[in-house]
Amino acid sequence: GAVIGILGGGQLGRMLSVAASRLGFRTHVYEPAANPPAAHVADRLTTAGYDDAEALRAFAASVDVITYEFENIPTAALDILEAARPIRPNRRALAVSQDRVSEKTFLNDLGLATAPWAEVNSAADLDAAIARIGTPAILKTTRLGYDGKGQARLRAPEDAADALAAMNGAPAVLEGFISFSHEVSVIAARGLDGSVACFDPGENVHRDGILHTTTIPARLTLAQRTDAVLLAARILNALDYVGVMGVELFVTDQGLLVNEIAPRVHNSGHWTQNGCAIDQFEQHIRAVAGWPLGDGSRHADVVMENLIGDDVLRVPAIAREKNAALHMYGKAEARPGRKMGHVNRIVTKG
Ligand code: ATP
Ligand code: MG
Ligand code: MG
Repeated sequence: GAVIGILGGGQLGRMLSVAASRLGFRTHVYEPAANPPAAHVADRLTTAGYDDAEALRAFAASVDVITYEFENIPTAALDILEAARPIRPNRRALAVSQDRVSEKTFLNDLGLATAPWAEVNSAADLDAAIARIGTPAILKTTRLGYDGKGQARLRAPEDAADALAAMNGAPAVLEGFISFSHEVSVIAARGLDGSVACFDPGENVHRDGILHTTTIPARLTLAQRTDAVLLAARILNALDYVGVMGVELFVTDQGLLVNEIAPRVHNSGHWTQNGCAIDQFEQHIRAVAGWPLGDGSRHADVVMENLIGDDVLRVPAIAREKNAALHMYGKAEARPGRKMGHVNRIVTKG
């Protein structure tokens, strides 16, 4: 049987491993940290850093294709891996989404709307950006941000110095603050043959910068739903993408704005595990393995809730609920802000 190599052993790598073994593949997970969530489900685990050329070469030699659960893989590691085996999704998808400037440039060049933005590498840049974009606004580091980390909000121009200090000297972008009515995401998949399939868009609510719930179906008109799916498909085609991508959107009176894209399975797609015959994890494995995409049509309404930090204390109660599917990540320590698991509640009518 073929072996799927997965870079990253967090909860996404864990759930990718489970999906891969269901299809009869073996998985080999590469993860720098000890005892990651994927450790208990992967067939093989390499614990080594992304600077360990020998470990990277051995990992690549042991697998047939390489995929990943996160976008911040160092370029030098990718060079070593790509010399040996195909990486899916491809390098361009990673390069574009690793950096908010290249991401927004790519999206705008495709004709897709984003929040107004400007590159900020100095106090003078920030002053000019505020003069053009105005406030309220958000300053974000261009790289390595997730769960709202590396962001500072500016209510007024006077907040500029504090916001810049919060970047710790890292390159940043200023974004105009969008007064969206709500947020949705499209979990889109593209196969090796170029076919595209999108899951039904979900509506996302964030708390303290972290995804709190995803509700399916999202509040969207049919026209908005079509726009959302078409723009996601354009992004995947433009990147000659293979795999699953999360496309985060703001719903505004002026139409849909793209917030960001993630070249991997996405937290807002976890509902598919209990709302579709083929979930995002299997869809991703199918794509990277060169299989036909599966049927991701939705058979139920679902509300996904992330269980973060102390939320794990509610697990015994959730375990007694009807129509509530728990997915725990096997993390020992429930630190604040740490994603411990999620629950998919199937919404039954009547
Ligand atoms: P993720 O964990 O999704 O990768 P992230 O750290 O990359 O998160 P963003 O998605 O950029 O952060 O922002 C997190 C949330 O903050 C958004 O989902 C949205 O609720 C809010 N937000 C971000 N940018 C803007 C904006 N320009 N206007 C209004 N709200 C915003
Ligand atoms: Mg992000
Ligand atoms: Mg985001």
